[in-house]
Amino acid sequence: MKKLILGVLSAFTLFVAATHAAPLPADKLKVVATIPDLADIVREVGGERVDVSAITKGRENLHLVTARPSHLVALSRADLFVQVGLSLEVAFVPGLMEAARNRKIQPGQPGFVNASEGWDALDKPATVSRQAGDVHPQGNPHMNLDPKAGRFLAERIRDGLVRVDPGSKSEYEQRFAAYAKKLDDAEARWSEAEKSWAGKKVVVYHQEYGYLCRACGIEILGAIEVKPGIPPTPNHLAELIATMKQQGCTTILTAAWSNNDEVERVASAAGAKVVELPNQCGGLSGTDTWIGMMDLVHKRIGEALGTAKAP
Ligand SMILES: [Zn+2]
Repeated sequence: MKKLILGVLSAFTLFVAATHAAPLPADKLKVVATIPDLADIVREVGGERVDVSAITKGRENLHLVTARPSHLVALSRADLFVQVGLSLEVAFVPGLMEAARNRKIQPGQPGFVNASEGWDALDKPATVSRQAGDVHPQGNPHMNLDPKAGRFLAERIRDGLVRVDPGSKSEYEQRFAAYAKKLDDAEARWSEAEKSWAGKKVVVYHQEYGYLCRACGIEILGAIEVKPGIPPTPNHLAELIATMKQQGCTTILTAAWSNNDEVERVASAAGAKVVELPNQCGGLSGTDTWIGMMDLVHKRIGEALGTAKAP
């Protein structure tokens, strides 16, 4: 990571020198979001006022994102930076932020939005050992997959936009209100679908559907990974398969990035079916917006559990 940043830095410096004298770009706010879910919500609340890009792409494992020179350029020019937080982006954000040298978007500055600020995180570990590969040191960071997250994130994004562009406050507030209405409708159809899933049991590959399952009343019996970020061992898999058989668990929820051979092996040994879900916007067809992604999540779970009307 450091090497890459240093490697692109010299080219980047030349680039900045070459463009420094260029006229100021259009009057839009330049926003960089870490994940496309946040970029979508920035677009919803910011409308024509914003020009937003995302660092990660649909099928990536968010704990293993590679920083690219284009990310550095975007961050160096940004008026506003939006991250989920809870250590979700710890693999790539600190290095990029340091190298981008953009004071406006550093933590604590008006242009920095930690969109999970105030969120009550699940699975907070009693002790954290980085050596043990724990990639969830502040609790479960995958809060973007909670059906209520859209509203929570949008509130913090709205506040960030108002901070850096107070002249457009009423526009952001109006657009937020319109988005909140869309969320009202979406949340109502999701809770309708979720009603019949209470008490159902699933297994996951990575602990990223905890918030979703909590909201739906679905019980997660275990994960195929030994711990978040630690690949499975034969013993762990044998125990998990035994538990699944004992408890009659026939569903594995996995993300596009983790739909791998190990998942197939557990599924076939336990007689379970695999449900591939998005872990962020854009990885699967129909998930370009956050609401669209959550619709697909509910549709696929509904089809798998066989009990709910698909939205
Ligand atoms: Zn994770």
